[in-house]
Amino acid sequence: MRFGFDIDDTLINLREHAFQIYKEKLKKDISLDVFHALDRVEIHEPFGLTDKQGNEMWHSSLEEIYYTDCPAFPGALEVLLELERDGHEIYYITARPKRHGIRTREWLKEKGFPVKDSQFYYGMEDHEKISIIKHLKLDYYVDDKPAVLDTLQQLPVKLIVKDQSYNQDVDVSRLIHWKDFQEILNQ
Ligand SMILES: [Mg+2]
Repeated sequence: MRFGFDIDDTLINLREHAFQIYKEKLKKDISLDVFHALDRVEIHEPFGLTDKQGNEMWHSSLEEIYYTDCPAFPGALEVLLELERDGHEIYYITARPKRHGIRTREWLKEKGFPVKDSQFYYGMEDHEKISIIKHLKLDYYVDDKPAVLDTLQQLPVKLIVKDQSYNQDVDVSRLIHWKDFQEILNQ
């Protein structure tokens, strides 16, 4: 079968990693409970930043956020390695900006993820993921963002949402822990 995966906050814990970076940079010790209660994707509000300031903070920290030691969610790597071992096709579809595409691909390889260069897509807007996913005729696609998943509802692909505080209203199969991935496939 053909499996597609978003990367940030689906396979890897990027927002929490960025939250830690913000804490150090802004010298504000904010509890992770605050992070876990956020009802939007953006993380700047608890730091007292406006959306504009938050956007600037995100982009000026991008190098550090993307390429330091952001951890994968427990079990995610193991699931993808098992899918590959079982002969399934694995596609990555990330909206990371074009200039970060190749480095992100290589970073994922360094982390041990099974990546084929021809099966790695990047640099599209969230709403443009649909045309790639349609073209690839995926059987399953996993993402965390409500805005992305909403656009895909009309496709025959089976959708799985990686559970996050900001996507509780998304009504598709919900992956809370990666160790339960196979169970979701069997539902
Ligand atoms: Mg994501």
